[in-house]
Amino acid sequence: DVTATKGNEFEDYFLKRELLMGIYEKGFERPSPVQEESIPIALTGSDILARAKNGTGKTAAFCIPALEKIDQDNNVIQVVILVPTRELALQTSQVCKELGKHLQIQVMVTTGGTSLKDDIMRLYQPVHLLVGTPGRILDLAKKGVCVLKDCSMLIMDEADKLLSPEFQPSIEQLIRFLPATRQILMFSATFPVTVKDFKDRYLQKPYIINLMDELTLKGITQFYAFVEERQKVHCLNTLFSKLQINQSIIFCNSVNRVELLAKKITELGYSCFYIHAKMLQEHRNRVFHDFRNGACRNLVCTDLFTRGIDIQAVNVVINFDFPKNSETYLHREDRFNLYRIEHELGTEIKQIPPHIDQAIYCRGNNGLTKRCLFKVSVRAH
Ligand code: ADP
Ligand code: MG
Repeated sequence: DVTATKGNEFEDYFLKRELLMGIYEKGFERPSPVQEESIPIALTGSDILARAKNGTGKTAAFCIPALEKIDQDNNVIQVVILVPTRELALQTSQVCKELGKHLQIQVMVTTGGTSLKDDIMRLYQPVHLLVGTPGRILDLAKKGVCVLKDCSMLIMDEADKLLSPEFQPSIEQLIRFLPATRQILMFSATFPVTVKDFKDRYLQKPYIINLMDELTLKGITQFYAFVEERQKVHCLNTLFSKLQINQSIIFCNSVNRVELLAKKITELGYSCFYIHAKMLQEHRNRVFHDFRNGACRNLVCTDLFTRGIDIQAVNVVINFDFPKNSETYLHREDRFNLYRIEHELGTEIKQIPPHIDQAIYCRGNNGLTKRCLFKVSVRAH
């Protein structure tokens, strides 16, 4: 009976007591479905390919088995977590540190855009768990400063993104530095063919977890507003005055538009930061860190860096530019994209009503966290 062996409580996994304390102190009462599926399987040493929607708790689904498996008395790198961005690396290492608060596990973050020399120095200290982007970790492995011969677990978060042409070659080279008996855990919200190919080539008898039916958008109410391009800022201003915004993220489709909109929002009298790919990494980090700490209410950005990012205080997300709009067939294209997105997410996106009930985004429960998101897509007319 499968259900009989499936744990419903974190205690069922026979985790180290210190780890269990970290889990409960973080406020997790019970494992989420993806955690319930992944943790016991990962603990057996099996490879995993897991697919679950955003916000379902994938980070802890791999951090918990990683922390459990690390022998803190053995000062070598035992786990590598690969992620596509620096922001996500920092967030993931933070989760590891929190869950592992009562363990003596050394976590190090390393990503491109920071000093290689500093990383080399830091690797002279004991490191058990390394979180970072593929290119940088590969550089360090090639230089021989990052020794991966005892790294028996490789985790790939946002695997679909990691298997884009930008990262895939580095990952394949990196795998050659790992021991032959390594465990690979892949997590992703989508399974494109690149993920499937990679699984076929590198994973050994992987256990496949596919939880796409699970509705995590339950706590997210989505609307669209149908406005002309030149009315968009006005529309945004109206939304700002109507909504109770705790913190908001506003997406634009280009670097230029991010800067322009941030300026407009500031002129309207709202506090606003912005982040885009043309900014120096260090500057990006600082802005992101400050936003996360609540220094400012609104953040305008391109959707480059936001993969997997989880900021609890954000209760409103605005797609100021409709995702992937085409210049030529703007209208039809948008309508098409809207239907496609509705279909893919299995959700309904309604036209924004004149009166918005606060209850739909100021509280609620998505099954894991007490939060509701309010999402608006501003479509060009
Ligand atoms: P994903 O990577 O699947 O998008 P995250 O790992 O970022 O999701 O988790 C989303 C949110 O859910 C985070 O705020 C996290 O702290 C919270 N969370 C994860 N697991 C649990 C749990 N078992 N109980 C309560 N909250 C959880
Ligand atoms: Mg994630």
